[in-house]
Amino acid sequence: MNIVVCVKWVPNTTSVNIDQKTGTLIRTGVPSVINPHDLHALEMALTLKDRYGGSVTTITMAPPSAKLGLEHAIGMGCDKAMLVTDMVYAGADTLATSYTLAKAISRLKFDLMLVGQETVDSSTAHIGAQIASWLHIPYLYYVVDVKYLGGGKIWAKRLLEDAYEEYELTLPALLAAAMHSTKPRRVKLSHKLRCRSEPVIEVWNNKTLGLEVSCVGLKGSPTIVKKTSFVPEVPRKKVVCQPRDLDEAAEWLVKRLVEERLLKI
Ligand SMILES: Cc1cc2nc3c(=O)[nH]c(=O)nc-3n(C[C@H](O)[C@H](O)[C@H](O)COP(=O)(O)OP(=O)(O)OC[C@H]3O[C@@H](n4cnc5c(N)ncnc54)[C@H](O)[C@@H]3O)c2cc1C
Repeated sequence: MNIVVCVKWVPNTTSVNIDQKTGTLIRTGVPSVINPHDLHALEMALTLKDRYGGSVTTITMAPPSAKLGLEHAIGMGCDKAMLVTDMVYAGADTLATSYTLAKAISRLKFDLMLVGQETVDSSTAHIGAQIASWLHIPYLYYVVDVKYLGGGKIWAKRLLEDAYEEYELTLPALLAAAMHSTKPRRVKLSHKLRCRSEPVIEVWNNKTLGLEVSCVGLKGSPTIVKKTSFVPEVPRKKVVCQPRDLDEAAEWLVKRLVEERLLKI
């Protein structure tokens, strides 16, 4: 089975700064990593390759620094990686991002595509569904297990709030791996060293993809950030209770909550 895994290069922090004028994320100076949820998509793909053979290709649309993340994916055992990067792709909303990725992916021969559940920096969970829609392929979300059934079909199990659902899908298809669904493998130095000796990472720019500039980046993004508001920080009262036992602590806490009008008794 030939599998493509989309990974996003995200800032290694939960507090991303936002450009007040444009409403876009400021990434300069913030160290980045592969989106942690995408490691489950990579692990799921590599497990399928271990079981059934084939190849795993990973792809990201990101600035050139994302090459480091792709080296990590190669180190985990991916065969090849594509870095889709061009200044004209900057400022893309989810529609323009998924369009560019779908166009890039359609150049690859694949049976199955995997994405993470969502990203830790934007968390829209749009990209998987949108790519599937651009490519007209079936899409399943919250996937925790996959098996190849033969004859171009897969079985996939997905997790709902309090139940599992089992599906049979015809390939090609796109699955979003649920967060915490696998134990992502470690990077192997022998795999990672392939990045030094073989051309395993390809860089594709807009000359390669030949996309209309009006359909990509900020120009191809119908979403406009109208206003960004910041939640005001609530000052803490820094009151400390030093009770002798649990009863005294509970009594003190109830009294404070009543005083603050957070509890009525
Ligand atoms: C007006 C506007 C301007 C923006 N400008 C910028 C900007 O300048 N720079 C910027 O970085 N972001 C920008 N963004 C955010 C950007 O659109 C989203 O980060 C991007 O579309 C992915 O959405 P998400 O992070 O919510 O992914 P989700 O939909 O939550 O991701 C789901 C999965 O899709 C895959 N995926 C997501 N993104 C990528 C990717 N790029 N490559 C490969 N796989 C991916 C991963 O597997 C991921 O787990 C902007 C957004 C808006 C609305």
